[in-house]
Amino acid sequence: MPDSKDTPLHPDLESVLVTQSQILGRIKELGQQIKEIHGEEEITIISIINGAIMFTADLMREIDNPVRLDCIRISSYQNETKSMGTPKLIHSLTLDIANRNVLLIDDILDTGKTLEMVSDIINKLEPAKLTVCVLLDKEGRREVKFDADLVGFKISDKFVVGYGLDFAERYRNLRDIGVLNSDLQNSPELA
Ligand code: 5GP
Ligand code: MG
Repeated sequence: MPDSKDTPLHPDLESVLVTQSQILGRIKELGQQIKEIHGEEEITIISIINGAIMFTADLMREIDNPVRLDCIRISSYQNETKSMGTPKLIHSLTLDIANRNVLLIDDILDTGKTLEMVSDIINKLEPAKLTVCVLLDKEGRREVKFDADLVGFKISDKFVVGYGLDFAERYRNLRDIGVLNSDLQNSPELA
């Protein structure tokens, strides 16, 4: 269990699950693993926004290959703390990814529906290789069979915020990843 000496506990958090320094340390290792998979080749990064924005920014700076960046916007939560039905594609890709090495990045793998849908979209465009990297994996919550190639941290089934992850668009700017106080999860002021 991490003890967050880095920053004081945010008043809206019950606990810190992963500290900023743990995140940044693990991202260095993930950068190395991506290098082992893709060698010196150019990589087209696809980031699932908004959640993966911080993770993408830090991870891509650990990769010294030539990179291109595209973003895909998916909505799944609508101010709730559990995935609601089917994820919706809000904004698709703009870069051509046929025959490219694609690195798909998301913040968290939960039911698996988002990454299954986005991987299908990407695979239809016939990339040369697709590697999926997530910062967090809630393995116990899977509803469809999906495994990421690279995982930062496996976590238990708790609703987390910070480092890009939000609740009703709040808390993305926290440096650590923590569990939101359960009374706030039902708070109408945050909706
Ligand atoms: P899935 O489609 O795998 O159920 O959900 C993936 C998406 O749900 C993630 O990209 C993320 O946006 C959101 N999500 C899943 N678990 C959490 C969580 O604990 N906290 C937050 N803030 N978002 C989550
Ligand atoms: Mg997301």
